[in-house]
Amino acid sequence: MIHTNTTSNHKTQQFASDNYSGICPEALDYMLRANQEHQYAYGDDAWTQAAADKLRDVFETECEVYFVFNGTAANSLALASLCHSYHSIICHELAHIETDECGAPEFYSNGSKILVAQGAEGKLTPEGIEQLVLKRSDIHYPKPKVVSLTQATEVGTVYSKEELLEIRNIADKHDLRLHMDGARFANAIATLAVKPKEITWQCGIDVLVFGGTKNGLAVGEVIIFFKRKLAEDFDYRCKQAGQLASKMRYLSAPWLGLLENEIWLNNAQHANRCAARLEFELTQFPGIETLFPRQANAVFVNMPPQVIDYLHSQNWQFYTFIGAGGARFMCSWDTSESTIDQLVQDVREGIEQA
Ligand SMILES: *Cc1c(COP(=O)(O)O)cnc(C)c1O
Repeated sequence: MIHTNTTSNHKTQQFASDNYSGICPEALDYMLRANQEHQYAYGDDAWTQAAADKLRDVFETECEVYFVFNGTAANSLALASLCHSYHSIICHELAHIETDECGAPEFYSNGSKILVAQGAEGKLTPEGIEQLVLKRSDIHYPKPKVVSLTQATEVGTVYSKEELLEIRNIADKHDLRLHMDGARFANAIATLAVKPKEITWQCGIDVLVFGGTKNGLAVGEVIIFFKRKLAEDFDYRCKQAGQLASKMRYLSAPWLGLLENEIWLNNAQHANRCAARLEFELTQFPGIETLFPRQANAVFVNMPPQVIDYLHSQNWQFYTFIGAGGARFMCSWDTSESTIDQLVQDVREGIEQA
């Protein structure tokens, strides 16, 4: 077997997360363009205006747009704006807001409780939501006010338009607002091949967090309010939370690079295609099966522990947080064919040695 540089066995690309990838050239280009001259601070600059307008074009509606540093802040502040402290937020038990935000949604909402529902393939169902809503109606229980969905989900699945509309119906019935954690919204759009409006405001989503980081930005997510009233005073909330960038143009201008010529969609399509290919290759091996339907840019598979150990010994990084034998491989906008080939080759060697 021939390895390149067997002493350090360094990998230039990994599968741990799509945020291991760097900045895509188009976003970087806008970062440099925005660096040519002085501009107004705190979001009053021309780049921020242009990026917000471009987002309104992409979503084909008048919406309120805010640029913040990361997804935890975006989700938490958006959720806080949708409920009072005595309200509760319903989400899937695997939701990032529940498992990976260190209590930030509760912190920023001054104590709104997160209620978790179960559901196959990382998705909420109308029944699961209704069960939580109807469980209690007395004064001693925090009143459900928001449903938070992740699109694409934490296990790499995607809600269809029909599933979203069913959730909207149940939300309407119980007067619940809808938040969408779209850290991988672009990947979901690439999968569904629909217009952004079709799975957001046309499905009754009140607030979307549109992820830029995993799609090819250096940093930054966008919070989009489809009902302007809900965005009242949101700028103050961002400022108080330390999320108002004084040189906001460096968060916003790179979005123009993603949005022009649909680079955001190309990036997501590429990542999804890589995941499809990786899934195909991995499942050719006996003893490797997918754990969840691969619908976006993540591949979840069961593999023998010896193979996982072998991959780790070859310096591959990937998450194994989903129980013994489970491994997550995440593809990104720049995952190369040769990286996939190398990984598959190492899986082959791992199986041979097991
Ligand atoms: C990556 C991710 C986020 C954002 O995480 P930050 O590290 O706070 O930027 C939010 N939701 C989901 C589902 C994610 O995968």
